[in-house]
Amino acid sequence: MDPEDIYDVVIAGGGPGGLSCAIHAARRGLKVLVLERGEAIGDKNASGCALSPKCWRDLDFMERLFAEVPHRVGRVAAMHFIDEKRQETGSVSYASSKRFAPYPIAGEFLTVNVYRSQFDGWLEKLAREAGATVRTSSLVTAISNPPDAVVDGVQYKRVEVNESRSFFAPVVVGADGAFSAVGKAAGLSDRWRNEDLSIMVTIDFEADPARIDEFFGDESLHYYYGANFPIGYVFFNRDGFHVGLGHYIKWFIDQKVNPVAVLDELLATPAVQRVIKIAGGKPREFHAHVLPFVARPGRLHGDGFMVLGDAAGLICPLEAEGVYYAMLAGKLAAGVAADAKASGDFSDATMSRFGRMVKDSPIGREFTMGEVWKEFIDTVPFNVDAATWLVQLLPDAMYAAINVAEPHAETVEVRARDRAMALARLVYPKIKKVIAKPAVAILDEFLRYYIDKLNLSIIMKPLLESTRGIREKIIQQVLDDWLGKRAPETVYHGTPQPLPSRLAVVPGLDVRPMIHVKPSSRPVIRHLEHRCTACGHCVTVCPARLWASRDGRIRLEEGHALWCMECGSCFQACPSSAIEIAYPLNGEGIAYKHG
Ligand SMILES: Cc1cc2nc3c(=O)[nH]c(=O)nc-3n(C[C@H](O)[C@H](O)[C@H](O)COP(=O)(O)OP(=O)(O)OC[C@H]3O[C@@H](n4cnc5c(N)ncnc54)[C@H](O)[C@@H]3O)c2cc1C
Ligand code: SF4
Ligand code: SF4
Repeated sequence: MDPEDIYDVVIAGGGPGGLSCAIHAARRGLKVLVLERGEAIGDKNASGCALSPKCWRDLDFMERLFAEVPHRVGRVAAMHFIDEKRQETGSVSYASSKRFAPYPIAGEFLTVNVYRSQFDGWLEKLAREAGATVRTSSLVTAISNPPDAVVDGVQYKRVEVNESRSFFAPVVVGADGAFSAVGKAAGLSDRWRNEDLSIMVTIDFEADPARIDEFFGDESLHYYYGANFPIGYVFFNRDGFHVGLGHYIKWFIDQKVNPVAVLDELLATPAVQRVIKIAGGKPREFHAHVLPFVARPGRLHGDGFMVLGDAAGLICPLEAEGVYYAMLAGKLAAGVAADAKASGDFSDATMSRFGRMVKDSPIGREFTMGEVWKEFIDTVPFNVDAATWLVQLLPDAMYAAINVAEPHAETVEVRARDRAMALARLVYPKIKKVIAKPAVAILDEFLRYYIDKLNLSIIMKPLLESTRGIREKIIQQVLDDWLGKRAPETVYHGTPQPLPSRLAVVPGLDVRPMIHVKPSSRPVIRHLEHRCTACGHCVTVCPARLWASRDGRIRLEEGHALWCMECGSCFQACPSSAIEIAYPLNGEGIAYKHG
């Protein structure tokens, strides 16, 4: 081992998780190496990159962002409801609240939106300032424990880069995204389930910042809940905006629709068109990236290994927020690596502290309700059939409460109860999984008021605490009996047309001119024809439409290297292991500039 190639910690992946880990580990005095496969930091990454206030609360370096990174503050979010005919049926919006903010900066904004190329590049600068070494164009291709790399009884891992060069460290951190080489080498992750991995497709539009300021200001987050597409978004940035959506790989396979066909439908929606036109947006770049949505992350550590961020599935399963979770986990992993160095113990027992710290942190707190969030997202935002009637519900609820078609006294005294009951009966089955906890919390508040008033705190408060679970069950049962067992209203329920027939028939946007690839000198994707059963899943899911079925056989387009975005969707979707993916070496391949 050449001493120059020996580090205290090697971090695979120069995204937010890896770079936060590098910043914190270098600050603790460790010799740190970050290996990033992109030619430039950020090249391989696409994201909404709407950063939550939690980043500022828990990561001290974030206070420099406002002065150093182009950004747009998102203070107001709007949710638009779109029906099957692409008409907007209503919308709600809200702003960050100074009165209810849990800490001061949370009252200032909902998110701050940045581009990955600029944000990740800035994190790289901070990591270098802290003393870390960052090597780009460096794909981690293998990790091993060579017998001749044992120093003072400590096993150093050999981290091979671009199948040629090697580096050594007793700890390797896997911050290398959804298809993690480190996770695989450590035996911590292999394949995702198709119902846990989503394909996200996005178009970045260029727009004049002054025009965005004038017409949208800090109303920077627009969501579209529609009957013809899974929940979509427009996120404004400093000089442009992303229009995007995503869903599980399984969903695209089941629906037999291509992700870009669904994105086309979102783009064909007049409400979205209006935003594009008002902002003067010009399509600039197309992105495709996968994102895990799991209810519970798996194991995060092994002997001399830690994995974090997307590599470990640490993404909020409700809102797909991942940058904060990756950066916070990076900070925690750095602390464990520093303690391991101090003790000279790099065993799984030491690394397991990382698992416990994550569990006790806001990351673990988010996942205590992971199953509920995942069920909710599957039932509502990701459920286009439910949307066919849910998007009519809000305007109907508004109409039921206030209209000029009758005297208001009639609305309030005669019709309000029936309308409220009809709506409650409709909504209840969809939200029953998430209603009991907040209902009991509200009821407790009411009971506590009277307990205090009657001076019964000593007896009643412990009773209240110990019976929370039982009361949740009782409330669920009462609501089930009262609302759930009554026949639901049929007024909203026609049978929705199958999704493919609801999609836009306008000529699809040609995404290929918006894909910027430095072709790889070796194939990224290989089709093992002898294993192929011609199921067509790769044809369905590939956002660049590089697969085609001809004469009953499946073909990968010649010259696919010009457009392959390395998203891995075809590889993930193939049930027969007939597709191999090998990321390009030496920084070749996709290079996003507005990801
Ligand atoms: C379309 C989309 C929208 C999103 N919107 C938001 C949002 O608005 N807010 C939010 O907080 N989160 C959002 N997320 C999620 C968020 O982007 C991720 O959770 C976050 O980037 C995870 O950070 P990471 O560092 O773990 O991984 P990544 O950002 O994926 O970084 C991994 C890095 O590792 C590198 N790498 C991979 N393999 C290797 C290897 N073998 N060797 C060397 N380098 C390697 C990659 O090139 C990459 O730079 C979104 C995600 C997508 C796809
Ligand atoms: S060929 Fe596979 S990896 Fe490449 S863009 Fe298509 S789905 Fe993604
Ligand atoms: S390569 Fe895989 S996904 Fe594509 S058709 Fe063949 S078996 Fe199906």
